[in-house]
Amino acid sequence: MTSQTTVKTLLILGASGDLTGRLLLPGLARLLASGRAGGLNLVGAGSDPWTPEQWRDRVHNAFAEAAGSADAAGQRALAAIEKETTYHQVDVTGEGPLASLVAGLDGPAAVYFALPPRVSQLACEALRRGGRLPAGTRLVMEKPFGSGEASARSLNETLASLVPEDHIHRVDHFLGKATVLNILGLRFANNFLEPVWNREHVEKVEIIFDEDLALEGRARYYDGAGALRDMIQSHLLQIMALMAIEPPASIGERDLRDAISTVLRASSISAPYAKSTRRARYTAGTVSGRNIPDYADEEGVDAARGTETLAEVQVEINNWRWKGVPFILRSGKALGGKRKEAVVTFRPVPHLPAGFTGVDSPNQLRIGFGPDTLQFDVDVNGPGDIFSLGRTTLNAELSGSDLLPYGEVLEGVLNGDPLLSVRGDTAEDCWRIVEPVLKAWSRGTVPLEEYDAGSAGPAGWSSPAEAD
Ligand code: NDP
Repeated sequence: MTSQTTVKTLLILGASGDLTGRLLLPGLARLLASGRAGGLNLVGAGSDPWTPEQWRDRVHNAFAEAAGSADAAGQRALAAIEKETTYHQVDVTGEGPLASLVAGLDGPAAVYFALPPRVSQLACEALRRGGRLPAGTRLVMEKPFGSGEASARSLNETLASLVPEDHIHRVDHFLGKATVLNILGLRFANNFLEPVWNREHVEKVEIIFDEDLALEGRARYYDGAGALRDMIQSHLLQIMALMAIEPPASIGERDLRDAISTVLRASSISAPYAKSTRRARYTAGTVSGRNIPDYADEEGVDAARGTETLAEVQVEINNWRWKGVPFILRSGKALGGKRKEAVVTFRPVPHLPAGFTGVDSPNQLRIGFGPDTLQFDVDVNGPGDIFSLGRTTLNAELSGSDLLPYGEVLEGVLNGDPLLSVRGDTAEDCWRIVEPVLKAWSRGTVPLEEYDAGSAGPAGWSSPAEAD
């Protein structure tokens, strides 16, 4: 049973970091200005000897955009937070200081680990030695959650010694609340869809996140991660799970997260990995008029690591509904076209009445992400020759959110709702699914192919179902 209590204090560890300045504080500002979370104390902490003014300036600058478009009540809420916010210099890995800081906060508090993953882990271990945290404390963990199944399990054990599972928020900012609900609404509120949403009628499901952005100076993180860890292990497996879950009884965190966990437990990637997976790295090229250098020549990249910038895997879901239906997950950087979508390809009809001519290609349903859209291909008669079938596409825009992705994350944290957070068992399972592939790739079992930046991928890769 989830206890939904409102958080009184948000403590951000990593006050000077990139995530805090660029995403967390602006997301928080928009949330506070909307009036959907109020009465909050904001506390920053970091290893730097900042003055209170330095931190307040940082908060003020990050709040500026939201303040500019807020109504009078929103502006007052933001100004109050800026005025009262405090900063603490603390080495979070030290024995004692972080526990004392948390114990002294006006609770219940949420502690946001906006720290390098290794530092977060050390900080949690230091906290563990002090025993359980004050009742109601929430812990917010960033991705990557551990570096493999074993380390995710060990981190889960540490966290479980500090707070209950429903007070742990493993952040996946990629799937905003609106997107999750859009997928579930489409699937479970339409009686023409759910009866055909299975192996009898679906040929394959593709989940694609092709970016036109290249490394953009993030070698320190990305070169140690690569596309499989960065995107597929976390975000795309979550989307796959939502596309594949059994109908939950409610959209409560227990029902939904149980259903997600069940589907991921049934999922795996089979050997031989040279057949079920592909990987590639971009070379120099042009994306939207910008010259992109060879990935291997980017500053901070160790080319010998063989980090992939494009990954594709075929996941099997071994259950009654999906046995034999490939779920193809693909994500890459520096590609010519930007695509973020899930594509469901239906099987052809069993028999097209003789006399019809024209297109009878399989129907496809596409859900585009950010902004969320829906496209549904249907074959219709004409125009002109009424016996000739032609393809038409029904388009709809799905509802969005007025919050930024991190505003949606923080709304769940501050209101004590872990619905959008990745549950501990699921975090471990996502690593279990990709780990054999990572090992096979590190042994060189699957060749690292190349593609020009700005292209559609390596020559010979048939691109997953392109939109017309
Ligand atoms: P940064 O390196 O920019 O910031 C890390 C912060 O941690 C700094 O404020 C740093 O302070 C602080 N820190 C490091 N060691 C200690 C310590 N021992 N005690 C106290 N503070 C310490 O990292 P990011 O902000 O980019 O990333 C933070 C987390 O968010 C990571 O887990 C990352 O994977 C995740 N993330 C980041 C995204 C992004 O776009 N940046 C996107 C999605 C997730 P100081 O410099 O003073 O040491």
